[in-house]
Amino acid sequence: MINRRDFMSSALAGLAATQVPEVLAAMPVNTVNTFQKAHWLQNGLIDAGGTHEPYIFLVRRGGGSRDIRNYYERQQSEPVISRLKEQGIEVFHTHLYKGFGMEAERAEMEDTKRAAEIAHGHGLRVDTYVQWNSMMYETFFAEEPRAKDWIQRDAAGQPILLIYGYQQSYRYRPCFANQEYLEYLKKVVRYAVVEVKTDFIHFDNFDLNQEPDSCHCHVCVPGFRSYLKAKYSAEKRRERFGFENTDFINPPQWNTQNPPQKLEIIFDPAIQEWIDYRCQLMADALQQVALYAKSLNPEVVIEINPHGITGANRAWASGVDHARILKWTEVFWTEEENPAGYSADGRLVSKIRSFKLARTSRNILLTPFSDNTVAVAESLAFNQTIGYAGEDPIHPALLKYIAFYRANRDLFMATEDVASVAVLRSYPSITYHNMRAQLAAILVEQTLIQTRIPFDLIFDEHLADLSKYKVLILPDSECLSDAQLSLIRRFVDQGGGLVVTGAAGLYDEWHRLRVEPGLSGLVEGQPAGDAYLERVQDRETATAKPTREEHGKGRVIYFATLPFDGAPPEPEPYFEISNKYWKLPKNWEEFAQGVGWAGQDVSPVRVGGPPYLVANVVSQPAKKRILLHLVNYDAKNTKTINSIEVACRLPQGTKAQAVIVYSPDLDAPQSLLSNRGAGEISFTVPQVNVYSIVGVSW
Ligand SMILES: [Zn+2]
Repeated sequence: MINRRDFMSSALAGLAATQVPEVLAAMPVNTVNTFQKAHWLQNGLIDAGGTHEPYIFLVRRGGGSRDIRNYYERQQSEPVISRLKEQGIEVFHTHLYKGFGMEAERAEMEDTKRAAEIAHGHGLRVDTYVQWNSMMYETFFAEEPRAKDWIQRDAAGQPILLIYGYQQSYRYRPCFANQEYLEYLKKVVRYAVVEVKTDFIHFDNFDLNQEPDSCHCHVCVPGFRSYLKAKYSAEKRRERFGFENTDFINPPQWNTQNPPQKLEIIFDPAIQEWIDYRCQLMADALQQVALYAKSLNPEVVIEINPHGITGANRAWASGVDHARILKWTEVFWTEEENPAGYSADGRLVSKIRSFKLARTSRNILLTPFSDNTVAVAESLAFNQTIGYAGEDPIHPALLKYIAFYRANRDLFMATEDVASVAVLRSYPSITYHNMRAQLAAILVEQTLIQTRIPFDLIFDEHLADLSKYKVLILPDSECLSDAQLSLIRRFVDQGGGLVVTGAAGLYDEWHRLRVEPGLSGLVEGQPAGDAYLERVQDRETATAKPTREEHGKGRVIYFATLPFDGAPPEPEPYFEISNKYWKLPKNWEEFAQGVGWAGQDVSPVRVGGPPYLVANVVSQPAKKRILLHLVNYDAKNTKTINSIEVACRLPQGTKAQAVIVYSPDLDAPQSLLSNRGAGEISFTVPQVNVYSIVGVSW
C-alpha cells in the first residue's frame, strides 16, 4: 500500500515549504496524481448489455428459470449484439468474472472472449464486468487454498459477507489490504485486457460493509497501526491520541448498548483514523489495479460501482471517499434509488448530486433509467451523455433519446460547466457529523437546484483554487483546518462572496472545538459549539434573520439555520439523509436571495419557472456557444411548462447571433426571437415538455 503521507511528501517535494499549503498535507486525498484518460471516451458513452451474470452464478444463486442457460447464451449472441448496434448502442456490456475463481469460470470467460470478438466485429466497444469484491469460497478455496487468508474477517474472526439478504452467504469479501488478493485480481484484469481485448472494465461492488462489519484480519490490524505511525510523527501522535505508541490500538469494537448505527458525532480519534484507513485502503488498491490495467493498454477505461452522493455517510459506512477514488476512474456507477421526479409532497428527487460529483471529478456517471424519460433527460443535461441504456431489450422510451443524442452529438461534446457558485462538501464535517453537515449540504443543494442557480460541488482540495467562483457556500462545514480557513479568508479579501450556515468553522479537521470560531470577524451571531458530548442533544436553533457583512470588496452572509420544512423524518440508521429530506428548506427564498447578494448578482443565467423545472448550463468556448438544458421533473403530471423567461450573460464585447431550441419533444430545432443587449440576452422559451436545450451562440 502506498502511504498517503509518503505519497504527499514525494509529490510535493519539489515545492518550497512556504508554497506547500498545510491544507494539502492535511487533506484526506491524493490531490496530485492520476492517469491519462482513454481518448475514445471524449466522444461520450452509450453502454448496454448483455447480461453481466455468468451462468455459474445464475445457477448457484438459485430460483432461476429452467431455461436460464438459453437466457445466458442469448445475451451474448450475435442477434442481440447486432440489435443493440442498430439501436444506437456503442459499448456492449457483458460478464467476465464473478468471483468463483478463474478455473471455475474458465469456460464462461472464454464465452466472453467470443462475444467480445462479435461485438468488435460490429464496431462496438466492449465493457466487461469484473467483480471487485466477491470471493465465492466454495470454488475459490478449492482452486487457491491460500485464499482463506485473503478474506475480510470481523472482530470475532468470522468471514465478512456481501449483504444481499439471507441467501448469498457463499460470497465472502476479500481484504483489499491483502497484496496476494490484489495480485490475483490483476490476473483477471490481465485476462480482460490481453485475452478479451476489453475496452472497458467495470469493477462491481466497490465498497465495504458498515460497522460492526469491518475487517480485523491479520493484515488490517497491524496495517492500521503502521498506518498511524507512517501518517503522524511521534509528536503528532501525542497530539492526536495523548500517547505515542500506537502498537496496541485496535479497529473499533462495539457493544449492544452502543450500536454503531446510533453514533451521531464521531469524536474518537481512533475511529476517525479507522475511517480514514478504510477509505485510503480502497483508494490505494484501486490505484494499483487501475495503473496495472493502464500499463497493459492506456485506452482501457476504468469504471467502479461505489454509488454516488446518496445522503448516506459514505466514508463512515462504506469506506468510500469519492474525492480519493474517482482520481483512478473515468466512469462510475450509482445504483442509488433516487429516480428523477417530483413527488406529491413537494420533494424533487434526482441524481443531480451524483452527476455533479462526476463532473467535478471528470468522470461519466452510469445509472439505470428503466422507462423514466426524465431520468434520461437528467443524464443528458448533467452528464452530457447517455451513460447506461440497460439490458436488451432496450426500453422503447429510451430509443427516442438515444437517437436524439446521436443526431445532435455536437451539442454535448467538449462542454464545460458554467457556474459561479461552489458548494463545499467537506469530508471531515460530513464524515464526523452526517446528521448536521450532510443535511445542510442537501438543503443548500436543493435550494440551488430548484431555483435554477448553477453551481458546482467542490471537495476539500478545491479550496486551494476558487478562481472560477463568485460565491462559496459552507453548509454547516463545521470541520475546517487552519489552512482551509486562510484560503476562505483570502477568497473574501479578493472580492468573493461567502455564504455560511450553522456551525461552519467551529471545529478543526479532527472535530476539536475551536477556542475562537474559525470564521470570527467574517461571521456575526454564530451560536457557540459544543465540545465532547456523552449524548447528543437536540438543539433548538433560532431562525434569526441572516446577518450580512461587507468586507472590502467581498461579502459574507450568515444563516444560523436552514430549517427543514415540516416535521423532520425520524433519524435513520447511521443518520442517513435519504430523499425523505430532499425538499426546499423553510427559508429557501431568503437563502436564494442571499446567494445572489453575496455574488453581487453576477449569475451567468437567470431562468424563471416552477420549482420542478431544473436547469443546467454548459459552454462550448470553441464553438462560441452556451447551452441551457431544461428538464421538467414533474412531466408525469405537468405535461408542459409554458413561457419560461431566460436572461443570459455573454462574454464581454460579444453580441448574440442566434437562439435555437433543440428537443426530443420537437420535430425540428426552433429559432427564438430575443432581446439582445450589451453582454446580455433575454428571451422566452415557449414550452418545455420533458427536455429542451437552448443554444445561445455569439
Ligand atoms: Zn483486512
